[in-house]
Amino acid sequence: MKKSFPYSRQYINNKDIQKVIKVLKSDYLTQGPEVKKFESKFKDKVNSKYAISASSATSGLHLACLALKLNKGDFLWTVPNSFVASANCGLYCNAEIDFVDIDNETFNIDIKLLKNKLYKAKKKKKLPKILVVVHMGGSPADLQSIKKLSNTYKFKIIEDASHALGAKLNNFPVGSCKWSDIAVFSLHPVKIITSAEGGMITTNSKEIFKKISILKNHGITRDKKILKKKIDDFWYYEQKMLGYNYRLSDLNCSLANSQIDRLNFFVKKRNRIAKFYINKLNSINLKFQKILSNSFSSYHLFIIQFNKINSKKKYSKVFNEFRKNNIMVNLHYLPIHLQPYYRKLGFSTGQFKNSESYALRSFSFPIYPQLKNSELNFIVKKINKISEKYDLL
Ligand SMILES: *Cc1c(COP(=O)(O)O)cnc(C)c1O
Repeated sequence: MKKSFPYSRQYINNKDIQKVIKVLKSDYLTQGPEVKKFESKFKDKVNSKYAISASSATSGLHLACLALKLNKGDFLWTVPNSFVASANCGLYCNAEIDFVDIDNETFNIDIKLLKNKLYKAKKKKKLPKILVVVHMGGSPADLQSIKKLSNTYKFKIIEDASHALGAKLNNFPVGSCKWSDIAVFSLHPVKIITSAEGGMITTNSKEIFKKISILKNHGITRDKKILKKKIDDFWYYEQKMLGYNYRLSDLNCSLANSQIDRLNFFVKKRNRIAKFYINKLNSINLKFQKILSNSFSSYHLFIIQFNKINSKKKYSKVFNEFRKNNIMVNLHYLPIHLQPYYRKLGFSTGQFKNSESYALRSFSFPIYPQLKNSELNFIVKKINKISEKYDLL
């Protein structure tokens, strides 16, 4: 088989293409009807009061932090095992970043470690203003426990739900913000649905919704209720705060509008593929992500941990062998605190051992709706073969 298998990829069909072409021929390429339509569809899908589109999840996370008034002197906490954007959003607001390590089974934030860290932080008067909770690979973190802690310690919760569109916790869709202030999704092509580049923000707070709507558009408003001068003409607008251009275009939204109609299909397929891997692979030295029993994963990632890999050298060998065999495995993630930029802020090796150990032995394997059984069988065969070659089972 010559074909190569990425860890994830977009699934574009003819309907998607026709939708985009239609918008290309229409009056609006941006800020027309497609944006509003997508926001409305999205909020219905995830059961939130409000949904606001953004140019990416990264800009969405920045807007979320701004809306929650994160400032210099404040702390933002997240996990080291995520994409750098989960932490960078705090730095954009000049806040200080700290991390809570992951649990070795769920690969999500470790609730006990969070509890201990909060207890200690309270004594030192260094409690976080915001906790960014990542749903790793689409598997929901234990938001109910986190919400209880936030009631005690008064921090705000932003879900980095980049992986988790279509996931559920206790039958509530991720994005419903049942146990959080804001949820942010990514529409990058490797994620569950795509708009090429794009992000979505959901919340149930009218105040947050209004603030983000203004901030993503330069800080400008035409809302008569909040204008200082009572000028009724369309040419008049006011800049209320320093905002950004973090808008998503009609062109992007037309693709997303078509894609979101197939959300259930995408997530079902991903779950089926995960089951396939789990049923076919079986060894005590091979570990899959533990999904909480009251939750449903969107399976953005299918992660396999080889417990017999214990050095970066061996990891590289296995990694490159898979790629040579057209299985384009990847690592999600290199711990954020070990990035050169974060080391300069004072972080170092050994601080978050679970995330570091995770990065030493975990691989993301191909999972995307178009994968056929014959292709999955090919991948499984390769996993067995390469595992044998490197004594991993
Ligand atoms: C993809 C991703 C992001 C960034 O998404 P963009 O839309 O590319 O900005 C942020 N956090 C996590 C966990 C991601 O996987």
